[in-house]
Amino acid sequence: MKKRLDEKLELVFQDVISRNPGEGEFHQAVREVLESLGPVLVKYPEFRQHKILERICEPERQIIFRVPWQDDQGEVRINRGFRVQFNSALGPYKGGLRFHPSVYLGTIKFLGFEQIFKNALTGMPIGGAKGGSDFDPKHKSENEIMRFCQSFMTEMHRHLGEYTDVPAGDIGVGTREIGFMFGQYKRLTNRYESGVLTGKGLDWGGARVRREATGYGAVFFLNEMLKSRGTSVEGKTCLVSGSGNVAIYTMEKLQQLGGKTVACSDSNGVIFDRKGLDLNLIKQIKEVERVRISEYAVRQKRAKYFPNGKIWEIPCDVALPCATQNELTGKDAKTLVKNGCIAVAEGANMPTTSEGVHYFLDAKIAFAPGKAANAGGVATSALEMQQNASRDAWDFAYTETKLADIMKQIHRRCHDTAEEFGTPGNYVNGANIAGFLKVAKAMAALGLV
Ligand code: GLU
Repeated sequence: MKKRLDEKLELVFQDVISRNPGEGEFHQAVREVLESLGPVLVKYPEFRQHKILERICEPERQIIFRVPWQDDQGEVRINRGFRVQFNSALGPYKGGLRFHPSVYLGTIKFLGFEQIFKNALTGMPIGGAKGGSDFDPKHKSENEIMRFCQSFMTEMHRHLGEYTDVPAGDIGVGTREIGFMFGQYKRLTNRYESGVLTGKGLDWGGARVRREATGYGAVFFLNEMLKSRGTSVEGKTCLVSGSGNVAIYTMEKLQQLGGKTVACSDSNGVIFDRKGLDLNLIKQIKEVERVRISEYAVRQKRAKYFPNGKIWEIPCDVALPCATQNELTGKDAKTLVKNGCIAVAEGANMPTTSEGVHYFLDAKIAFAPGKAANAGGVATSALEMQQNASRDAWDFAYTETKLADIMKQIHRRCHDTAEEFGTPGNYVNGANIAGFLKVAKAMAALGLV
């Protein structure tokens, strides 16, 4: 099923494998981009001469550090922190922080690599980075979370700055965590430097629509993609995996545009409601009470809860994986297509395995890769940076119009680029090529740095 790489791209790929042993997700993310680039290197032979590919696969800087903190019992705990500053050809490093026990260097590298192209696709002046820790926020008290965030920032602050590197949230990091980190940054530097972090609270420099942006953006992209095939989100039955920030605001926008979400999930199980999920109840459970999604079926008798259930086995028109990497396999892709699914938009980063992606592309359903479909989050982060720089605060409607516009442009760019390079309808190629070209041209212009 794997696409073959031409000889020179294969050499680049083998080099990435041997220089980054054991980092499977990073290899996967690199391979997916390389698979799209054959025709680009034919058209732009100078990129070979400048060794753009070899350079783009090697992070500009990787920081790994110890994060010591004390739990509520007074016990000393040690975690590992990461920041991979991957590429700054287009602007300061930009990308989220992930706190999850599964995080290791390979996770951050794959996310940072994807972020380069995603950020380029937004058309905003931002480079690519990612960071995080193997810290597990589950079952931690608010004080423990605060102490961890402060310790994390105590090391990280020296590597950040509004013109240097601007982190935000990702899995396990929301406004609360950004607040604790911003407070510590401010204390250590004696600067109220709003533009150093995005995803801030509305009272202290945050931007409207940032919370909603990744989910809303994914649905805007999906709708554009469906429109180009003569249909739309309206009346579609949808599956949304996950129940975090991305999933919640994906469901909200689907609902606003007339779609119906019948299932969502967390790492323990799936909830299903044929009549459509009650979004207010999900928000109450996940945003206010911060408990497991199984609680939904306790309070809404109509719904069914499937512990360890597989969400992709439920028949749907549209699937939006919004949980985590590699959550949708080749087998799941086959099941979805067999059950009549016509479109998939990735709200999470790399949620579909390469077998799954190839299956969707071969089946010719509308498939939106994460680096295009979920770019609304980071694009709105760039809008937050703009507002911080001009000490301004835009209203919700204006900001949402901007986001909708950006997603439309990203869709157009991916759509047209796929066509230009001979694979119409293939948004994977469109996104990889359009993102790569922007970064590669800037790198070539900036000389050997
Ligand atoms: N973590 C988000 C992403 O995957 C947002 C990054 C940001 O806003 O900087 O794109």
